[in-house]
Amino acid sequence: MTTDRVLSGVGVAPGITIGPAQVIQWEIPTVTRTVVAPQEVDREIERLREALRAVQRMLEDLRERTRQRAGAEESKIFDAQILMLEDPEFVWEVERLIRENQLSAERAFEFKTLELRALWSQSSSFQLRQRVADLSGILLRVLNHLVDKPIHPALAAPDAPPAIVFTRELTPGLTVQLERENVAGLASVEGARTAHAAILARSLGIPCVMGVIDGLERVRDGMQVLLDGTHGFVLLEPTEAEIAEAADSEQRRHQLQDRLEEVDGLPAETRDGQSVTLRGNVDLPEELDETQQHRAEGVGLLRTEFLVLGRKTMPTEDEQVRLFEHVARRFRGYPVVVRTYDLGGDKFPAAFQTAPEPNPFLGWRAIRVCLDNPELFRVQLRAALRARVSGDVRLLLPMIIQVEELDHTRELIAESARTLQQEGITAAASLPIGVMIETPAAAVIVDQIAARSDFLSVGTNDLTQYTLAIDRGNARLAGRFNPRHPAVLQLLRRIAEAAQQANIEASVCGEMASDPLSAFLLLGLGYRVLSLSPPALPLVRWLVRQIDMNAAAAAAERALVASTSAEVETTLKEGLAAFVDIELLEAGRLPRVVGAARLRSFQSGTL
Ligand code: PEP
Ligand code: MG
Repeated sequence: MTTDRVLSGVGVAPGITIGPAQVIQWEIPTVTRTVVAPQEVDREIERLREALRAVQRMLEDLRERTRQRAGAEESKIFDAQILMLEDPEFVWEVERLIRENQLSAERAFEFKTLELRALWSQSSSFQLRQRVADLSGILLRVLNHLVDKPIHPALAAPDAPPAIVFTRELTPGLTVQLERENVAGLASVEGARTAHAAILARSLGIPCVMGVIDGLERVRDGMQVLLDGTHGFVLLEPTEAEIAEAADSEQRRHQLQDRLEEVDGLPAETRDGQSVTLRGNVDLPEELDETQQHRAEGVGLLRTEFLVLGRKTMPTEDEQVRLFEHVARRFRGYPVVVRTYDLGGDKFPAAFQTAPEPNPFLGWRAIRVCLDNPELFRVQLRAALRARVSGDVRLLLPMIIQVEELDHTRELIAESARTLQQEGITAAASLPIGVMIETPAAAVIVDQIAARSDFLSVGTNDLTQYTLAIDRGNARLAGRFNPRHPAVLQLLRRIAEAAQQANIEASVCGEMASDPLSAFLLLGLGYRVLSLSPPALPLVRWLVRQIDMNAAAAAAERALVASTSAEVETTLKEGLAAFVDIELLEAGRLPRVVGAARLRSFQSGTL
């Protein structure tokens, strides 16, 4: 497949579809009529009220359509917007602007909404920051109504073939208004798996790809495109052969889906009776539902960066306690591994005023930032100790390169526990501390680290990046970024052995664990706990149930002596082919989301 015709993104609703592209541009209109004469004030207030009523009816209608087409739960997406329009305080404030400042209805509404948007987007409450998108939605609808613009441009004629819609931002409102018969697929520049519109697209069964960065520039109306919502790309002007290949792959995906459903709810146990623990990686609170639905046995990696990204202030101790307790309650009886802030590199929050660094991935990040800012670190450590009272909360330290960092963190934890006790605040006296093995330095001295840790967790995304000296987010190098490189394999073996020696748990939480062929390798290397990206849980569960652990170990042994990544891959495929149809497996493989795409998912979560 020639890469210059491929636009990559993040697959958020599975399925492959082909059709003519249709670009929908919808933007918040510019308000030109800003003030009114004093005698027009009453009429202006009436215009506002009428617009609010009309938009409310429109939203209620959308909610009903969503209920019919996608279900009652999905239809609640519109509740927040309807409630906002009914909020007497909000409406009164807008009317006051018209009355006292003689603003036009559209100007007053815009002013108040933008003011709230600025306030909410800097709020310490995650829920409030999430509602910013709802606010933008009603701003668009009410302004369009007041300036008399249609809310969405009409789609192609009813007898035209179903289109693949391209837009900047895919809102739930737009998604549900698109009739299934007219729409074959959806692609947007912004958004991520957890966006409301993505959830809706999945429920409606419309394949969807988000994060297609240059989609609007490269696509023209009517251009034939192939959209793959499973693997997350759009192919412009596909050839006959590419269409046939996509059709085959889609058929296999359906077959695989049926098999995955058969093992839903069954334990992750190999044919020879060895059990494997599957946990979930949670980047954003919305992912908890999917993680739970797929029966993860705990959260193996709770990334805490979303708490700070896009905010001007750092989260408080209470706020973090609430989050950790919430997750612990949802996974009662299972571990919840909270990773301390992995700031820096691609994740620097506005709350942190730092000068740009020439080499951010080799710069001031993760544990380095935390240890240099004990006042910031203590807040998180205290929160984890307090939350430990409600469940099996554990702490995981990112980017460790030497044991002093671990020792220093332990001292801070002990000190935090003492002060909490002195202050009379209920908290645990200590908690399990794990180290992320994600730098070659940590992998090389893993024996010493293991001797001082309660558990290890391998971050294969960074471990691969630093071992191979390949930027994990660089699209040009994506083909070379291979965690199955022989050098990475040697380190993985070493880490597994060190954990066994020290008699502590070693899990893998990098994206590698979510890839079935790599999961087979990791099991063969001796890892028994994998923490996965939530959508990968069914596939890896199914895989575990197909294989024999001895065969996995034998394949891993052979892979360890391979001299190239290609040889590693062939060896593993040969080993796995005894149990599963490799082509079938490939059809269900999820796109690799490390680096930039995952960051976009953070950003959209904190809009
Ligand atoms: C990793 O590096 O493999 C990892 C799990 O952490 P992150 O992707 O957040 O850097
Ligand atoms: Mg990492």
